[in-house]
Amino acid sequence: MKPAPFEYRAPGTLGEAIELLAADPEAAVIAGGQSLMPLLAFRLAAPSMLVDLRRVRGLGEIAIGDSGVRLGARVRWRDIEEDQLLAIAHPLLREAIAHVAHYQIRNRGTVGGSLAHADPAAELPGIAVTCDAEIALVGAAGERCVPAAEFFTGPLSTVRQPDEIITELRLPFWPRDRRWAFREFAQRQGDFALAGVALFYDEDRRGRVRNPHVGVIGACNRPQRLPEVESLLSGHAIDDGLIREAAAAAAQAVDPPEDLHAGAAYRRALVATLVERGLRAASQNGEA
Ligand SMILES: Cc1cc2nc3c(=O)[nH]c(=O)nc-3n(C[C@H](O)[C@H](O)[C@H](O)COP(=O)(O)OP(=O)(O)OC[C@H]3O[C@@H](n4cnc5c(N)ncnc54)[C@H](O)[C@@H]3O)c2cc1C
Repeated sequence: MKPAPFEYRAPGTLGEAIELLAADPEAAVIAGGQSLMPLLAFRLAAPSMLVDLRRVRGLGEIAIGDSGVRLGARVRWRDIEEDQLLAIAHPLLREAIAHVAHYQIRNRGTVGGSLAHADPAAELPGIAVTCDAEIALVGAAGERCVPAAEFFTGPLSTVRQPDEIITELRLPFWPRDRRWAFREFAQRQGDFALAGVALFYDEDRRGRVRNPHVGVIGACNRPQRLPEVESLLSGHAIDDGLIREAAAAAAQAVDPPEDLHAGAAYRRALVATLVERGLRAASQNGEA
């Protein structure tokens, strides 16, 4: 099918882009087009106008500093993949993004597009929630910064207002000796995951878990942390028994969707397996 007719604008500044969105509630932002174009082609979305961000300056930066990593909204998967400093500054992010889609899509898909699209199985929203990231937005009412845990409200649904543009994802500082892992399972390389797990923790001097963060994708109606699993891990040294307990708790904590790719029971079992494998990998070498 072909998209319904729409006007097209490519403003040069963020201010102009916001003016266009504020003047027309039926207008939509387009970035890489990798999620939006299929929706338009199937006429699942029919915006009156596309406001293309490609000429807006200042949204394409990757900044690494003492407070963490900032990813501009127009940073593409490929930019993340190719940034060697980012691999050191945030290895969990880099590992997760390697699982996103295929080469062609990674060449165009963007940080802002993925966050705004809010697919429950998408990797970046999962990393944002797991890592306590914040999402910066700017609209007609001004700027605001929303914790990722509050940003995603359901499948393809967020707290973003129609006239707001995501400008940046802010990930907190990542200590070098942190233990971490990312595990997902997809039917084919590059497909959306049936389920995925991102986790990390620090250790005290006696090797006991501090500050555990365990997040899931594809296993609930939005990316979520699993506080039940984190409490189980906190204060204990990782061993086989604890890993098995955590995996069982994770399977209970998720609320997986049923669809033609997998039933809820399968996804629960998958989450348990991924948590087990992730914790084992993190405890053995700190790397996935
Ligand atoms: C075959 C296929 C496989 C894929 N597999 C995966 C996968 O495994 N994992 C994964 O995470 N993704 C996957 N994707 C999605 C892909 O990563 C998209 O690129 C991404 O989700 C959206 O980014 P985009 O820049 O293309 O956004 P667009 O398609 O341009 O926009 C998507 C949505 O975001 C809005 N938007 C875009 N930028 C902004 C902004 N800065 N502020 C506010 N709103 C904005 C648009 O209005 C639209 O609603 C896949 C896509 C395809 C086609």
